[in-house]
Amino acid sequence: MSAGAPRLSNDYDGPCAVCGAVVPSGTGVLRHGPTGGWEVFHPEHAREPQPPRRRDLPGWHRRRLMALDIATTGNRAAVDRVLTAAVRGSDGTSRDWMLDPGSNLLSVASGKGHGVTIERARAEGVPAPEALEELAGVLTDHLAAKELLVVWFAPHVLTLLHAEFLRHGVTPPADRLPAGLAPVCDPLVLDRHADRYRPGRRSLEAVTAWYGVPHERPGDAASDAAATLLLAQVVGASYPALARLSRPVLHAEQVLWHADQSRHHRDPLDWPFTAVQPLPWQDPPPA
Ligand SMILES: [Zn+2]
Repeated sequence: MSAGAPRLSNDYDGPCAVCGAVVPSGTGVLRHGPTGGWEVFHPEHAREPQPPRRRDLPGWHRRRLMALDIATTGNRAAVDRVLTAAVRGSDGTSRDWMLDPGSNLLSVASGKGHGVTIERARAEGVPAPEALEELAGVLTDHLAAKELLVVWFAPHVLTLLHAEFLRHGVTPPADRLPAGLAPVCDPLVLDRHADRYRPGRRSLEAVTAWYGVPHERPGDAASDAAATLLLAQVVGASYPALARLSRPVLHAEQVLWHADQSRHHRDPLDWPFTAVQPLPWQDPPPA
């Protein structure tokens, strides 16, 4: 529990979740239990919540992983553009792209934390079709070897990227691979599945902090990709039930877990992506 958070107490007498002895009403500490209900503790038995212990487990998380992230003009999958992209591999692969989006009238939505301006992307970027062709090649080569592509919030990143490939006449990796865009590992889906009732936000920043993964420049594609790679390795090492899944099964399970996790959303995207057609630019709604 973070400093300053209110400590909830028990309204009724109840057994302590650690020692079983009665905790008189008003004297205990209430916490969310592992199945979503409340648990009561003697104050001396209520330890601060901690991430699970990392173990020396074999599994997909120790194989060759490649993490991908992008920085964009906004979050509209069919409309917004990619300004930078980065991949970081567990084998030391490190590729970065800045994309010149061309001379269209574009703007970056407010609240985007990456700090890349349209002007800078035009001045320093390589033409978008060229950069996207290279990126598509790197992703396709990795997935063709049946190794996991790690993407935080894959439906957002991969759906927007798919539209961007089509917009610039680049064959998307999903259409180059006989098995489609797989196998993918989305640490957001895995963390929500493995630790469903943990309170707090599930942003990349919050979740890396919870697992103690360094994350230097949140919002920056290269820093986000590096943090996402480490996070996947840590999540695998933290949950034996996840680590033991084969890569194809891990992929297939995430489709189901994501559908369950997003069942209350109004327009849930498919996992790992939806094959949307690109739309012409529209200015973002005013903030
Ligand atoms: Zn107790």
